[in-house]
Amino acid sequence: MNDQVIIVGGGPAGSAAASLLARSGKKVLLLEKEVFPRFHIGESLLPFSHRMLMRIGAWEKVKNAGFMIKPGAEFALSNGRSLRRFWFGDSLDEPYDKTFQVERSKFDALLLDHAKESGASVLTGAAARDFREGPNGVEVEYERAGASERAQGQWLIDATGRGPFVGKILQLPKTDLGIPKKMAVYAHFRNVRRNPGKAAGNITVVRLSNGWFWLIPLDEEKTSVGMVRPISAFQNERGGPSELFEETVRGSRELRSRLEKAEPIGPYRTTADYTYRLERLAGSRWLAAGDAAGFLDPVFSSGVTIALEGGVAAAETVLGQPNGSRGFSPGQQREFTRRIHGLARRFSDMIQMFYDDRAFEVFMSPRPPQAMKAAITHLLAGSTALHPSLWLRVKLFYLLCGLQRRWRLAPALDYGS
Ligand SMILES: Cc1cc2nc3c(=O)[nH]c(=O)nc-3n(C[C@H](O)[C@H](O)[C@H](O)COP(=O)(O)OP(=O)(O)OC[C@H]3O[C@@H](n4cnc5c(N)ncnc54)[C@H](O)[C@@H]3O)c2cc1C
Repeated sequence: MNDQVIIVGGGPAGSAAASLLARSGKKVLLLEKEVFPRFHIGESLLPFSHRMLMRIGAWEKVKNAGFMIKPGAEFALSNGRSLRRFWFGDSLDEPYDKTFQVERSKFDALLLDHAKESGASVLTGAAARDFREGPNGVEVEYERAGASERAQGQWLIDATGRGPFVGKILQLPKTDLGIPKKMAVYAHFRNVRRNPGKAAGNITVVRLSNGWFWLIPLDEEKTSVGMVRPISAFQNERGGPSELFEETVRGSRELRSRLEKAEPIGPYRTTADYTYRLERLAGSRWLAAGDAAGFLDPVFSSGVTIALEGGVAAAETVLGQPNGSRGFSPGQQREFTRRIHGLARRFSDMIQMFYDDRAFEVFMSPRPPQAMKAAITHLLAGSTALHPSLWLRVKLFYLLCGLQRRWRLAPALDYGS
């Protein structure tokens, strides 16, 4: 059996795994069904993704690629009466004091090129169709230029995103994490009104009574704008998703003022998006990373950071196996699954908070204790290892959210236009 590692999917998770493995001397074959550059949604990074970009040796390339600098994240109410800004630099030092907004076609191509430059063999236009696990390795069947081909390897990393390759073939059960199903409709626009000064690069999240918008400045001209609402809102709409998008903009003072002169560049796209995870993320010869392991509601821009972390974790797990290994033991499989599930867990409480009207009142409170703000900024930056004193403050924040459900400690929010 060929001793290479086969990676399926060339998004951030696949490229991170391929880069780290190839730089560590492994033979790597990456199969990507699209030809890059290709469009992908998920354009706002978190500062703690930098740690993984450094680990795979791509940090300098990303830092110098000319992406829009994102110094913070802000949350506004749809009626424009309330705004909360979090500056990463208020609580974090370099290189976590700011991050980037990225056009994914460029960012993903940069990372895939980096994997190639690190020594991985990359086949684009190669769609994996099936795989078999044997006692000594895996065999992957893929299609390229109309022909069916096979590749053999020791290990397989599934980094295929939200239509998980291994998950589908093995029919692995998905757990719904109790966050209601949603749909997103989005496009790139020109002439979106920008924040003045330093805040021009921030991501703006505009909270509606039933959903939210993102505004992500991508370059001097282009802004990504998307709306996320429960699937039921789209089902009840007589027009299409873009009509609901435009109607919602007209109904919100905050969005009207930002999008008054906006013109779409390119088509509106839609994605049905809901939070789930696969319960099993490893087999004897395979590991799943990034969205192929599970998907989190995108409100806190966590997806790419988790994908990079998952790709690195998968590569480290393979690197930890001795040559000629008989496969991952059940204990190793459980350990890998626990590690990946843990990556998402730190965001899921925040997501639940965002969709809980009472808890969100605490988040938007005009006078939060400064110490709590620092803890929340760490979470918004995607920090993995919080200092115990910050964890205590995070716990205090969630305690206040819980108390708010019984007694109103923070003022009620009015979403009326
Ligand atoms: C509406 C929305 C908004 C989002 N906003 C953000 C955001 O602001 N910030 C953020 O960090 N994240 C965001 N995300 C999440 C983000 O898009 C993903 O978490 C991230 O792209 C996951 O990376 P990945 O490498 O796991 O998968 P992907 O980026 O999806 O890459 C998977 C790759 O696998 C390839 N592939 C699939 N099947 C096969 C096959 N059979 N054979 C070969 N190749 C295959 C695909 O072509 C693709 O290139 C958002 C998601 C949605 C839906």
